[in-house]
Amino acid sequence: MPRVRHLAVAAVLAALVLPAAATAAATPATLPAPIAAAASVAQRYWGAVPCGGHLAIVAFRPLVGGAEPGTDAWVTFGSPLGADDLAAAPDTYTNCTIALGRARWPTTASLRDDWDMLCMTMVHEMGHLLGHAHDSTPGSVMAPIFIDYSDEPALCRAGLRAATANGASRSQAARKRTSSTER
Ligand SMILES: [Zn+2]
Repeated sequence: MPRVRHLAVAAVLAALVLPAAATAAATPATLPAPIAAAASVAQRYWGAVPCGGHLAIVAFRPLVGGAEPGTDAWVTFGSPLGADDLAAAPDTYTNCTIALGRARWPTTASLRDDWDMLCMTMVHEMGHLLGHAHDSTPGSVMAPIFIDYSDEPALCRAGLRAATANGASRSQAARKRTSSTER
């Protein structure tokens, strides 16, 4: 059973509607730049746009009851087989949301500082919304826990400039983080 968690998202902080041939230019100004950059990388990584382009990305979300402590991000969606069921065809998913937990990313600055993990996480979560379940193959972006920055997709490494376009630099403390868990 895929380990995805259904959460009732109380408030949408920012919504990203991805057109069929999406570009970063289509991103609403309300979306924090690192999130927009990571979403753009994730689309290019997969060469696909999940959920017919209707995807909400919400940041700074608290964990709610039942979530494992340390969960950094999660997806929710509807499907003909029920909520968050990856066995359904991905083109039937509705109400697709990627949620980023505030424990790991409490501020926009933290999203920039922790770019590598943010980007890997975004690629992973978008993979779920394209129907991919967890895959423990070494180096897979669908691994449920990231433990090695060497697994970072090249597109994420290259995307750092866009994520830090306002001149902020990443902290060493952020670089030393070595793991991330999510659903
Ligand atoms: Zn996952």
